[in-house]
Amino acid sequence: MSGASGQGRQAGGTPRAALADLLAGNRRFVSGQPVHGHDVTEAAAAAAASGDQQPYAVVLGCIDSRVPLEAIFDQTFGAICVIRTGGHVLDRAVRGSIEYVVGQLGVPLVLVLGHERCGAVGAALDALRSGGRPGGSLAHLVDEIAPAVTEAGIDDPAVLPLAIRRHVRRTVHTLREDALLAGPVAAGRVAVVGGLYDLATGEVALLEAG
Ligand SMILES: [Zn+2]
Repeated sequence: MSGASGQGRQAGGTPRAALADLLAGNRRFVSGQPVHGHDVTEAAAAAAASGDQQPYAVVLGCIDSRVPLEAIFDQTFGAICVIRTGGHVLDRAVRGSIEYVVGQLGVPLVLVLGHERCGAVGAALDALRSGGRPGGSLAHLVDEIAPAVTEAGIDDPAVLPLAIRRHVRRTVHTLREDALLAGPVAAGRVAVVGGLYDLATGEVALLEAG
């Protein structure tokens, strides 16, 4: 097992070390040389290592089946917490889960990961263009993504990729101002960062704030 894969993996680690660890895992994935095969031996070792889990990061991503988060960051059992919703849309359950991981488990890094050609963002764009609104709880996804689409400009030829990026940034901004996260973020103990996954290359690129 690579020593580089575990550098940030300790309770009370820094946001910077956690982010470096995640991105190192993505480089192993992209290079076709993952060290974690997700076999039961690793699962058993993680379960036996201690009475409690000690993840070092939480990743919030989309439900898209082409973006399996543990795989694209080459992470083993016990390393990261993963939350997935359509278009990484927030709701109370998602926010409460992140608050738990940060507040109770001491995780220093929250990564919001969008991806190219996101169907959820596409659905919001379709709804805005058509003036229609889906029924059921699907409406919640569209409503939460719509502001990013509007900001990107529904008539812009590049609206979808632009809206995907804006939606990541909006999600990051919302989490940074969360009642239970704002303090640790301001103190530098916790970082909330945004990233984008490229379906074609497997690479994760960080998005600058803005
Ligand atoms: Zn998606």
